[in-house]
Amino acid sequence: MDLNTITEVVRPRNRAELPSWKAGDAWLAGGTWLFSEPQAQLSRLIDLSDLAWPPLTIGEHGLTVAATCSVAALDELPCPAEWTAAPLIDQCCRAFLASFKIWKTATVGGNLCMSLPAGPMISLLAALEGVCTIWKNDGSEQRIAVVDFVTGNNRNVLAPGDLLRQIDVPLAALKRRTAFRQIALTPVGRSGALLIGTAGRDGDLLLTVTGSTIRPLQLRFAAMPDAVALRAGISDIPDALYHDDVHGKPAWRKAMTLRLAEEIRAELAGVRP
Ligand SMILES: Cc1cc2nc3c(=O)[nH]c(=O)nc-3n(C[C@H](O)[C@H](O)[C@H](O)COP(=O)(O)OP(=O)(O)OC[C@H]3O[C@@H](n4cnc5c(N)ncnc54)[C@H](O)[C@@H]3O)c2cc1C
Repeated sequence: MDLNTITEVVRPRNRAELPSWKAGDAWLAGGTWLFSEPQAQLSRLIDLSDLAWPPLTIGEHGLTVAATCSVAALDELPCPAEWTAAPLIDQCCRAFLASFKIWKTATVGGNLCMSLPAGPMISLLAALEGVCTIWKNDGSEQRIAVVDFVTGNNRNVLAPGDLLRQIDVPLAALKRRTAFRQIALTPVGRSGALLIGTAGRDGDLLLTVTGSTIRPLQLRFAAMPDAVALRAGISDIPDALYHDDVHGKPAWRKAMTLRLAEEIRAELAGVRP
């Protein structure tokens, strides 16, 4: 939709050209959410596209995803054969309640910054132990784990004027074995629960819970837990953290979290649930 309160669109080409932040400003990434509903409080958009950040960079330490990388570009990344975790990219890109038209425009960073419980790029990059780099409004930089970046439903650590620059995914996380489970109330509905397990060579388990809770939660087990230990770990999640909206009641989300977590544990442990 047209945002008829916008009087100015700025297109900086580098950090030095970023304008001083003022009330009524918003970063514009893909705009798939920004243009989807009225934004009467906004008067200026700061378009990120001319910053021209390389969308995806594979280096010796892992993968760097620019905040402005589109979901479609991430989905098309030809991953090195040793990245056993690569199927998660495909699985999480398809976990959007959105068509390919949204994929082509929506950015990975926009998804993190929306900080919705059903944000699949949050699920992916939290499970892959990604680390965000934030360009702070005061000119400094902050690095923070993706799992800590999102603090609640539509809440995150960004202060006004802070800009998410990139997410770095360590190579070790990309080489872990993975298991993915997602459930929604309808066949292509918004995720009611989206859980990802990753296992290392030592048999440890990192379980990332998203979708069912208002923010991503991680459970780490030094060795593959049995069903009882896993259930106990999930039961420690406070009921208040389960999300409540038309896409699922908290009690159902909790039940699905327990069920999907056990499926993941069984898959990674190589046993039938
Ligand atoms: C049909 C449809 C289906 C959708 N399905 C889902 C879904 O299943 N799950 C889901 O989570 N979302 C969904 N969305 C919401 C939204 O499209 C996605 O979250 C998308 O990834 C947002 O990315 P964007 O680049 O379009 O963000 P924009 O709309 O450009 O921005 C979103 C917000 O993030 C801020 N922002 C963007 N980039 C940065 C940055 N680098 N640093 C700081 N702030 C920034 C913007 O100022 C704005 O407040 C859907 C939207 C539509 C229209």
